[in-house]
Amino acid sequence: MVKKIIIVANWKCNPTTFEEAKRLFDVTRSEIKKTENIEIVICPPFIFLPIAKSYEFSAKFGAQDVFWENRGAYTGEISPAMLKDLGCEYVIIGHSERRNNLGETNQMVNKKLKAALKNHLKPILCVGENQDERTKGEAEKVIKEQLETALFSIKASLLEISNFSIAYEPVWAIGSDATPSFDETMTMQIFIRQVMRKLFSKEARVSNGVNILYGGSVNSKNCADFIFETGMQGLLIGGASLNLSEFGRIVKRIKELTDY
Ligand code: PEP
Repeated sequence: MVKKIIIVANWKCNPTTFEEAKRLFDVTRSEIKKTENIEIVICPPFIFLPIAKSYEFSAKFGAQDVFWENRGAYTGEISPAMLKDLGCEYVIIGHSERRNNLGETNQMVNKKLKAALKNHLKPILCVGENQDERTKGEAEKVIKEQLETALFSIKASLLEISNFSIAYEPVWAIGSDATPSFDETMTMQIFIRQVMRKLFSKEARVSNGVNILYGGSVNSKNCADFIFETGMQGLLIGGASLNLSEFGRIVKRIKELTDY
C-alpha cells in the first residue's frame, strides 16, 4: 500500500476568537476538498477543537501539545483522554517553541510521548537544532540526543501501530524564510532513519515505518521539493497554514504530484 503524504497545519496561538476560528475552518475546508493521497492534519489551539469535531471535513485533527497524565491535580493541563474525547487523532509533541519558551525538556517530551501512545493518539515528535548548534556542527548530535531521550523505554510495538511521525524542524528555519538546502534535508532524513534503526535494531518495521516530515518556512514554491527532493514523507506548516490561499496552493501542488 502506498503511504499517504502527511501535511500538518500548526495554527500555533491563532486566531483569537471563535468567529475567526470558524471562518478559518470554513475556508480551509473549501480549499482542501477531497485529497486521496494526502493526509491533512489541522492542529488548532485546544479551545477550537470542539468546532473541528462538529465539522464534516476530509481533514484529521491534532492538538499542539498534551500532558502526561489523564486526570488529577495538574492545573492548566490538557490530557490525552480529553483529546481523544474531542475527536483528536494526532498530537504534536516537543515543538521547539514549547522547548524554548516554556522549558520543555527531552525528559518531559518522553513522558508526553508515552502517554500519547498509551492513549492511541498519533504523535508527531518535533526535533531540530538551533542556529548556534548548526554553526558548531552539532546538529546531528543534538537530534540524536533528542530522539534517544524522547524514545527512551518506549516499546517498538506501540510505535508500530501508532502511525508515528518525526518532524525535522531546524529551529532557525521556523518562521524565518531561511531553509536548509534539499541536500541537507535529505541527509538529515537519512540520519534520523539511521538513529531509529539503531534504537529499534530488532524491529525494522519501526525504523522503516516512521514518517519523517520536514518543517520550517515551507511555502507553495518550495513545498514540492521539500518532499520529492529529500525523501521526506510530509510537511509541518506553521505560518503558511494560516494564509489560506497559500495553504490551498500548497495542498494543490502536492495533490497534482501525487494523483496517479
Ligand atoms: C512550525 O510551526 O512548526 C513551523 C514550521 O512554522 P513555519 O512554517 O511558520 O516556519
